[in-house]
Amino acid sequence: MVPWYCFWYFRDMPADRTLPTPEAEEIVALARDVAQGELAPKAAKAEADAEFPRETFRELGRLGFLGMPYDEELGGGGQPYEVYLQCLEELGGAWASVGVGVSVHVMACYPLASRGTAAQREKWLPELLAGELLGGYCLSEADAGSDPSAMRTRAARSADGGFAVTGSKAWVTHGGDADFYTLFARTSDERSKGISCFLTPGQAEGLTPAPPEHKMGLTGSTTATLDWDGVRLEEDRLIGGEGAGLSIALQALDSGRLGIAAVAVGLAQAALDCAVAYARERQTFGKPVIEHQGLGFLLADMAAAVESARATMLEAARRRDRGLPFGRQASIAKLVATDAAMQVSTDAVQVLGGYGYTKDFPAERYMREAKVMQIFEGTNQIQRMVIARGLARG
Ligand SMILES: Cc1cc2nc3c(=O)[nH]c(=O)nc-3n(C[C@H](O)[C@H](O)[C@H](O)COP(=O)(O)OP(=O)(O)OC[C@H]3O[C@@H](n4cnc5c(N)ncnc54)[C@H](O)[C@@H]3O)c2cc1C
Repeated sequence: MVPWYCFWYFRDMPADRTLPTPEAEEIVALARDVAQGELAPKAAKAEADAEFPRETFRELGRLGFLGMPYDEELGGGGQPYEVYLQCLEELGGAWASVGVGVSVHVMACYPLASRGTAAQREKWLPELLAGELLGGYCLSEADAGSDPSAMRTRAARSADGGFAVTGSKAWVTHGGDADFYTLFARTSDERSKGISCFLTPGQAEGLTPAPPEHKMGLTGSTTATLDWDGVRLEEDRLIGGEGAGLSIALQALDSGRLGIAAVAVGLAQAALDCAVAYARERQTFGKPVIEHQGLGFLLADMAAAVESARATMLEAARRRDRGLPFGRQASIAKLVATDAAMQVSTDAVQVLGGYGYTKDFPAERYMREAKVMQIFEGTNQIQRMVIARGLARG
């Protein structure tokens, strides 16, 4: 029997990275220390107990991870996406619920940061980026997931100014635990041009979370429906003007998908490390199983998948950092990285044989966590649709 802790040796072997500056190397090293020192030891128990790690997010906020890719003059960390994503990879590989939570928070800040007026940014953004507050992103509804323009939640203008929001937003990550929500709601019946974006407080009167969903994985991350019953919002909580909501949501998702790709790469790397550590120790027919070609080749394919996914994600990130269009590349990165995470984590279970199917090792958890990465922030069918549409346009 391989000692249960053997995979930690290999988690201590950093992934091979090329980072743009010595400062970036230090930042990613810090993310790795936090990931391995603070997150990894807590992940398995917290996931088993479905415990939402609110304090962990505060700590990550204090360290600057919750506002990292936003400009310093806005109160962010001023880091390029290339660096932010590699930090996210480290955090997500140690604890996927936390990596996903950071990515969702960063995406929830995007509409205000990119489309808010100077007055709106000044009023709210520093607090959001400082990381004391945690965000949620309310786009999906029970009958509007892949097709958000089918949403029905309505923000009606009130006679005394402002809006009253009524409806139900499904699948909200941090639903009921967040301090603010970036909400997309209908302000007119026009299908895609009738949607607007709002920054809403988490504790608004009339806003009620349903009990959290019981999920197969990512159980440390709360996912809940939020019911909005005439929730009053002041006029200045409208972000980017009436009718601009869907295009803001889709732009935010381009960046958010890179975050999910990063968490998926981290997860795939963790699954690979676990499998390699086990295969070096476990002996059959008088030698370590990694030395049997059949298994060595499987591990080689896993390593190739992890490195290809990382390269694809970083190419998209570098385009974003240079101000080039990156939407198609973000969809490709999300597709490639999450499919890699699913394949590599499934293969990791196989490499561990019977032990892979037990909860004594993290491989089965990685496999359950990888599955949802292929579903949220646009299923991988929707990523293919985005890529194909881009190809058709030429
Ligand atoms: C754990 C978790 C957390 C989430 N967090 C958030 C969040 O924070 N905020 C938020 O807004 N949403 C969130 N979501 C929702 C998520 O983004 C949606 O579940 C996802 O977009 C799919 O929508 P759906 O579930 O309604 O599936 P559907 O849209 O009903 O799709 C069903 C199936 O049909 C396929 N399909 C649909 N349309 C097409 C098409 N045109 N061509 C080919 N195939 C198609 C889909 O790929 C899927 O396989 C979360 C979901 C989960 C599970």
